[in-house]
Amino acid sequence: MSENNEKREFQADVSQVLDIVTNSLYTDKEIFVRELVSNASDALEKLRHLQLTEKEVFDAEKELEIHIDVDEENKTFTIADHGLGMTRDELHENIGTIAHSGSKQFVKAMAEDAKKETAMIGQFGVGFYSAFMVADEVTVYTHSWKTDGEHLKWTSDGKTGYEIEEEDGQSRGCKIVVKLREEYEEFAQKDRIETILKTYSAFVAFPLLLNGERVNTVEAIWRKQKSEVTDEEYNEFYKFTSKAFDEPSYRMHFSADSPIELNSLLFAPTQNTEQFGFGQMEAGVSLYCKNVLIDDKPEGMLPEWARFLRGVIDSADLPLNISRESMQDSALVKKLNRVVIKRFLKNLDSESKDDPEKYAKWYENFSRFLKEGTVTDYDHQESLAKLLRFETSMTEPGEVCGFEDYLVRAKEGQDKIYYLIIPDRKTAEAGPYLEAFKARGLEVIYFFDQVDDYLVQNLKKYKDNDLVSIDRSDVELDDSVEAEGEALEESAVETLTTFISDYLDNKVTKVAVGKRLIDSPVAVLTPEHGMSAQMRQMMKAMNPDEEAPPLEVELEINPRHALIKQLHDVQGENPELAKLVTDQLFDGAMLTAGLLDDRKDLVTRNYELMEAALRK
Ligand code: ADP
Repeated sequence: MSENNEKREFQADVSQVLDIVTNSLYTDKEIFVRELVSNASDALEKLRHLQLTEKEVFDAEKELEIHIDVDEENKTFTIADHGLGMTRDELHENIGTIAHSGSKQFVKAMAEDAKKETAMIGQFGVGFYSAFMVADEVTVYTHSWKTDGEHLKWTSDGKTGYEIEEEDGQSRGCKIVVKLREEYEEFAQKDRIETILKTYSAFVAFPLLLNGERVNTVEAIWRKQKSEVTDEEYNEFYKFTSKAFDEPSYRMHFSADSPIELNSLLFAPTQNTEQFGFGQMEAGVSLYCKNVLIDDKPEGMLPEWARFLRGVIDSADLPLNISRESMQDSALVKKLNRVVIKRFLKNLDSESKDDPEKYAKWYENFSRFLKEGTVTDYDHQESLAKLLRFETSMTEPGEVCGFEDYLVRAKEGQDKIYYLIIPDRKTAEAGPYLEAFKARGLEVIYFFDQVDDYLVQNLKKYKDNDLVSIDRSDVELDDSVEAEGEALEESAVETLTTFISDYLDNKVTKVAVGKRLIDSPVAVLTPEHGMSAQMRQMMKAMNPDEEAPPLEVELEINPRHALIKQLHDVQGENPELAKLVTDQLFDGAMLTAGLLDDRKDLVTRNYELMEAALRK
């Protein structure tokens, strides 16, 4: 072997990917065509961009086209581009190792659960290796765009390793020859490939030729009129540009002239891949300037929470050679961001009204992004908050509504939005907090999600209405509800509250009678400046080794409740029994509030109480 020829084994993780790719993934073998076309298209796009800044490019006159040639006799599928090609080091790095973090994640995810949605492969940059699903051997002929690059040939059977040799006569770019396995010779048929190309690659931005014949028409559909584009075309465009396998749930196609000239086509997917445990989605809206790609994943162009969006933003106002670094700080890009996101949210709002059921379904998968935005994106906070959905004390179980619906139903003069953070509806309805609000006809929002506490702490109000948690002691309730039944006299209340607070001592900051209890004997409340139960729970989970923050609660008692009246009587005659009951009442109330750390006393005390009750 000459010194410039080398043989290497694949690294363990490449072998792992290859193993998965060849043996289990993809029932649709044809996907490899799309992957290779997409790589060729990327390479051309990158070259087109390079040409703007580089003076010297190898084979400068070569056309930016993609040529596919199939040969039934020899059972080969060949794809060639005059993109940026690869140097020797790049060959090692790009297709000899798994340099991309995406692929690493993929390997990890697959190792954890082999049955994970196999359709996710495209998202993890396993693209090139997909050729080995159908191939005995893959050969890559290449010359880099760099003038001092070598003429190279990379060969592999996709099993153990690969070989790189020098082979003169290469043009700029890559030519990939896929030698098909016998059972996949269909991919050497022109008709078969033509159908595949029409399905997956209709939107390649470069001329695509199959055995010398043009198969695509290059067009930027985002620059067309809406009426000129069909639903199918939109969906295929989405799948092609974002390498997605689902249908988009929403799309927004719009152009504007001011404050900035732009054409934009955005999609909201149906599947949220973050839910599959594949890590954070990458920003997926590409930035173009008059049909020329500037950046396919411009980090920081759109706000972080909007990373689920897919599509294209094209603005003629952008300087073509804007660098990635300067882009993030560019005032123009900020303006783009604001215009596009504002429009998108407005659009989504009207879609949510047109078809609330569809929106609720989509929301189930994507609520996290909107909540994240509500907390972090002050510019669009109100529009994002408008899109939040939740169950309330007035919706049917499972049915959701938004703040706007809440405000429509709000009582005259009601300027607060009431909520309760609680694990589920049943707990909300069984607990002591709701009764006073129900009795007054006040709607209460149920927040079931762990992040909701954080959400409301940041949001604080919707429009001019403060968000108020109904378990707080400072909630003001009117006197419109006349409580039934006779209450303990004031002096008796005084005796009882003193007894309870003396006994519970530092467990409560206050014991008092209030307006909220109707059917329940007691409830614990969060003091005005106290930490919510959820926040405390979160802090405990984050610092499991540290002592939990001290609890601060107030206890409200219901002077009309039989149990409270009897407790008053008993505390004089039988203080030991009264203490037992007080403990039990308090722990029960803490349990309902999600604040009870240790439940074991609850049970033993229960036995003692039963015993006392049965004693003759
Ligand atoms: P991805 O395209 O998602 O990065 P692939 O496995 O498809 O992952 O490709 C790995 C890398 O190999 C690419 O990132 C690119 O650097 C390089 N590559 C693949 N195909 C080509 C090509 N036709 N021209 C130049 N480079 C290519």
